[in-house]
Amino acid sequence: MSAQPSEDQLKGCAKCGACTPVCPVYRASGNEIYSARGKQHLAQVFDGAQASPVFEDIYSKCLLCGACSMVCPRKIDITEEVIEARTKFSALYGEHGYQKYLARKALNRPELLGAARVLGKTAANILGRLPIDSGLRLRLALFADSSESTNLLPGKGAGRLKSGTPITYFPGCTAQYLHPAIIEDIDSILSKYNQKLQIPDGLGCCGLAIMASGKKEDARDMARKNIKSLELSEGPILVSCGSCFSHLADYKDLLKDDPDWRSRAEMISERVIEISVFLESLLEEERIEVSVQQKDLRVFYHDPCHLRHDAGITEEPRAVLQSLPRVRLVELVDGPQCCGQGGLFHVGAPELSAKIRDDLGQKIVDLKPDVITTTCSGCLMQLKSSIAALAQNIPVIHFSALVNSCSVDLNES
Ligand code: SF4
Ligand code: SF4
Repeated sequence: MSAQPSEDQLKGCAKCGACTPVCPVYRASGNEIYSARGKQHLAQVFDGAQASPVFEDIYSKCLLCGACSMVCPRKIDITEEVIEARTKFSALYGEHGYQKYLARKALNRPELLGAARVLGKTAANILGRLPIDSGLRLRLALFADSSESTNLLPGKGAGRLKSGTPITYFPGCTAQYLHPAIIEDIDSILSKYNQKLQIPDGLGCCGLAIMASGKKEDARDMARKNIKSLELSEGPILVSCGSCFSHLADYKDLLKDDPDWRSRAEMISERVIEISVFLESLLEEERIEVSVQQKDLRVFYHDPCHLRHDAGITEEPRAVLQSLPRVRLVELVDGPQCCGQGGLFHVGAPELSAKIRDDLGQKIVDLKPDVITTTCSGCLMQLKSSIAALAQNIPVIHFSALVNSCSVDLNES
């Protein structure tokens, strides 16, 4: 009779392979070492002390999308394990170890800076405006050393905004530095409900990108800084970027071993609310029946993986969009797909990232949408790149911009 499996064996990878077909990196590469099962096998065979550039390369090829954990019967948190491995690489190869690896990759691929051009800005322009600890530097592969100190987001006094109930807002780097119109759009939407935005002084980058690069202690420091600022406010904290939302909601886990910050992090994580969930609760009361004939604006909504897999937010954004006049949602036949941006994945694995991106992009283009929308800053950049790479001319806009423009239509009709 065979021996009963140990508790550790029951917790570990069963090598069932359920994670393989759902992994976008496996699907694009055909190489199973990049799937969750492959990484689990590697982790069992070698320990961190034997890590090498080959290991670094394999662990760079993960989007941290979480699709594997959703289907894993052992509920293994693969993204956490990948981040832990990257943290070990940073420790092994010195300060900025994993980032140095990514920088080397980026320097060999200057076209990565095309992401900045797609956004209609020069790299120098962006570099000059981004604080040194902004996750956008990593996302845009802008690795220039700088001695500049961190610029914190300036406070935006309620005086600029309309009177009413103040809603605390966490803009993140994208709304603050690349697309400030997002703030204006959300402000405009809220003003229709006699509510106003307030942005506390001292907020910085959420810290997701720096954590994904294996610098968990730096990510904790950034979380503490944001918590300190957000504690000065009360009530819900509105977040318009899916990735920032997911990371702020995880502050409680990031700081769970810090007795001085654990409960403070828990309180902030409990207060965050994602933009589509927030708008759905507002629009619910004002939903207007619109005939099918009026719904002539074909809209494709892209599900950011952090929202789909981590937070399970898929219905709310669709409910908001469908409640708007003119909007007709178009959907992929096989369901939502990862865009291939993955925070730093597009830097560590540019060819694979572009393959995943353009596979999705072509499927979206085939749906003939009039507009493409999403809530995640990384997805927004990736989808813009894809539409440009496919020589298409379909606008890719933030969710709040679309809701705001359709709400204007609603008021005018
Ligand atoms: S997190 Fe995503 S990319 Fe990484 S191994 Fe899992 S499914 Fe693959
Ligand atoms: S789904 Fe989970 S248990 Fe199955 S092979 Fe993948 S990581 Fe291992």
